[in-house]
Amino acid sequence: MCESSPTKRARLSLIKPIIKGIGSILIVILLPGCEVSFYKTFRGDTMGTYYRVVGQCRDSLTYQLLESELLSLTSVLSNYDEASEISSVNRSESIGEWVPAHETLVTVLVAAQQISEQTNGAFDVTVAPLVELWGFGVKDVTQPPSTESIKQELRRVNYRLLELDENNNTLRKLSNIKLDLSGIGKGYGVDHLAEVLDNQRCTDFLIDIGGEIRVQGHNALSNSWRVGIEVPDGTGQSEVFLSLSSGALATSGSYRNYRVFDEKSYPHVIDPRSGYPTSHNLTAVTVYRSTATEADALATALFVMGFDEALEFAESNDVAVALTTWDADSEKHGASYSTAMKALINEGN
Ligand code: FAD
Repeated sequence: MCESSPTKRARLSLIKPIIKGIGSILIVILLPGCEVSFYKTFRGDTMGTYYRVVGQCRDSLTYQLLESELLSLTSVLSNYDEASEISSVNRSESIGEWVPAHETLVTVLVAAQQISEQTNGAFDVTVAPLVELWGFGVKDVTQPPSTESIKQELRRVNYRLLELDENNNTLRKLSNIKLDLSGIGKGYGVDHLAEVLDNQRCTDFLIDIGGEIRVQGHNALSNSWRVGIEVPDGTGQSEVFLSLSSGALATSGSYRNYRVFDEKSYPHVIDPRSGYPTSHNLTAVTVYRSTATEADALATALFVMGFDEALEFAESNDVAVALTTWDADSEKHGASYSTAMKALINEGN
């Protein structure tokens, strides 16, 4: 007979002190199916940040597999790699002609355009010329751009200037546009790894690329994955926790990546409609969706919108969103949650 869940938990509490000494790399638990299974943790670097995968799999999951999948993704999606597919699309001078593109690139761009449509252009991967102008691309800048240069670059920023044909894996630029996938690529990477883990028959996992997270099933103690939403007050302490057994969380914020020109701070999220970095009291937006691709892009879009528009969007589209703010007068951080996010928080506390 297989043991029941309470017995299993009792046994888990016995196992925990033993494995503590070994470290957190390998956690051994007994599953209801009476087989010994393993939670393994993998950590490394990718996409200019870290990745972390914790999973329990029936087939073998190795560093070699994860790293080769991440490498092949970045060879398509990275603006930081001159040899990547996206860099070659950006260099291409072919305008008005359909050109073949990597299937992964077309898939990511289709997802990006759906979010652009949904958010009325607040999310827009053709924002690349403005990202570069403000010094958030591969090259740094020492001066803020002139109003004239912003106006000029704005003419080639519009997601409608890119056409995609998913059936034939082709794309067509309607103007001299440039694409930046930093607002969606990490989320897509997380979803891609989730597929890899599914193929390796991983029943339970947590995948994290630079703070974009996706979970499935349970952690090594047979509980839902517990994920904190941080209030960016510099303490690193989380304000609220969610208990999740599926879905993805992604955050966009102004507190980690910004430039200072003439003592004024400019965050890296740019409003593609005005050409300027966002300027409002939002410090971070965290979005929960079923996929990390959508959560990642939506978090960026909602950050562009600002507090009122973002909350209105979340309520009318039933999106779980946490918004953190900074009030300069009282010098205090605040946090607000959409109705769907409040429900998730209540389940988790
Ligand atoms: P998010 O809010 O998720 O994205 C913000 C970023 O999206 C901005 O920095 C800008 O690039 C872009 N953006 C700004 N405004 C908008 C808008 N309105 N709509 C759409 N996009 C917008 N960084 C390195 O330093 N070195 C690397 O080698 C490197 N490699 C990478 C490879 C890949 C495949 C990807 C996807 C990213 C890579 N990065 C690299 C970028 C780095 O990880 C970024 O800092 C990160 O993607 C931004 O994520 P975020 O969560 O901070 O912000």
